[in-house]
Amino acid sequence: MKTLVHRFVEKIPDQIEEGVIYVSIPFETVIHRCCCGCGSEVITPLSPTDWSLTFNGESISLEPSVGNWSFECKSHYWITENKVIWSTRWNSKRIEEGRKEDFEAKVRYFEKNKSTSSNIQKEDSKTTKWKNLFGKK
Ligand SMILES: [Zn+2]
Repeated sequence: MKTLVHRFVEKIPDQIEEGVIYVSIPFETVIHRCCCGCGSEVITPLSPTDWSLTFNGESISLEPSVGNWSFECKSHYWITENKVIWSTRWNSKRIEEGRKEDFEAKVRYFEKNKSTSSNIQKEDSKTTKWKNLFGKK
């Protein structure tokens, strides 16, 4: 089984070594060369709607899986505790579905945040009403 070495870096270096997974917390980005050996640089941004990184003190895991659909190799694998776990190749229909799911997850995430802020606004207007009520007294 292929294993990677993780390296915590401030900035992403110019030279990305094969078999090394670079983690930049300041830039919320993880980068590595495609594990199939094709040499493509795979950038996985860290955000609530992109990838999440888990560091257990010894090794790192990325969630969800890495799907290199835009590369020639179309490789698909999980990085779990620095190990590369190969997943099935997706056909183009599944890739399309995956992209849609991804997009919908983003929409849901942003709508959730939006509704939270509008709730706060509602609360505010209620408070204002109360204030007005007391003001009239
Ligand atoms: Zn590849």
